[in-house]
Amino acid sequence: MPTVDEYAERRKTVAAGLAERKLEALFISWSANLRYLSGFTGSNGSLLITPGQTILFTDPRYDVQAREEVSCPVKIAKGPLVFDIAAAIARLKLRRIGYEPVRMTCDLLEALGSRLPARSSMEPVAGWIEELRMIKTEVELDRIRRSVETNSRAFEQAVKHVRPGMREQDLAAELEYRMRRLGAEKPSFETIVAAGTRGALPHAQPTSAALASGNLVVVDMGATQHGYCSDMTRMLFLGSPGAKVKRTYRAVLEAQLAAIDAVRAGVSTAHVDRQARKVLQGYGLDRAFVHSTGHGLGLEIHEPPRIGKRDKGRLSAGMAVTIEPGVYLEGFGGIRIEDTVVVMPSGCEVLTPTSKELRLI
Ligand code: ZN
Ligand code: ZN
Repeated sequence: MPTVDEYAERRKTVAAGLAERKLEALFISWSANLRYLSGFTGSNGSLLITPGQTILFTDPRYDVQAREEVSCPVKIAKGPLVFDIAAAIARLKLRRIGYEPVRMTCDLLEALGSRLPARSSMEPVAGWIEELRMIKTEVELDRIRRSVETNSRAFEQAVKHVRPGMREQDLAAELEYRMRRLGAEKPSFETIVAAGTRGALPHAQPTSAALASGNLVVVDMGATQHGYCSDMTRMLFLGSPGAKVKRTYRAVLEAQLAAIDAVRAGVSTAHVDRQARKVLQGYGLDRAFVHSTGHGLGLEIHEPPRIGKRDKGRLSAGMAVTIEPGVYLEGFGGIRIEDTVVVMPSGCEVLTPTSKELRLI
């Protein structure tokens, strides 16, 4: 468990950064940022951070839970939260209040804005909390590690049941059942099981199609445990693969290893992406690699930084990111290999323990 102080420390960092942004408060309603700054896991809540104090607003369903999870004052609203939030803003005489435009509905902004005193205004703030969230604490890394372990164990348990005739959705259900039995709260995203030519869709949803002999199968899965995500892609083959599958698999594996090799604090994300692309280019497959090499993960499955060819960021120690090059060929299928890694000062730690061999069934 992170100590209550960890959340208080984060709020202190935010409170200390308000003045330089010419703000008197920051309003947070997005669940992941809310959890990051307060520990609150309920589905309805908002946080108002000021230099003097932070208040969590929620409804009576979360009365007991909020008091257990949160170390700052909690206001239980009797009606819609906006009435109490606006009242607190008026009482505290707050003028410029930051909000997260990417993370808030127009409806909530309008409801809140229309109830504010004339001297108060809502000011957009982009990416501030996401930037803080990029660098994980040891406690967060431990949670990601546990999530990765659960995910990999669920994969091993479920793969034992794979037979020709099993439907994509049966395997997805088996994977998700196993991860829950092993301690996950839920999958981090909709589990992908895509067999044969459907594997050429990078984000295919499992269907009732049966796995058949000669199928290449993409399995992309993640577990959320104690709020933190994991993300892994592995490939199965039913039968014995031919030359094209073997060659394409080797290309993707080499690309993935080259990108992992490039991960260390200080390098640009574009450099890491380029290493994967260069290998695939050598195989004439770079144009079949249609997405970026990776993404950050933590409380959410997709967080900054992005590791793509047009991204401008640099990696820092303590970031948790995926490395997942893939090749998608219409009429053939897709091959992707994905690990979760942690950026270190002079390299990275690959958290995913699962073998990267093509799994033959
Ligand atoms: Zn994935
Ligand atoms: Zn991913």
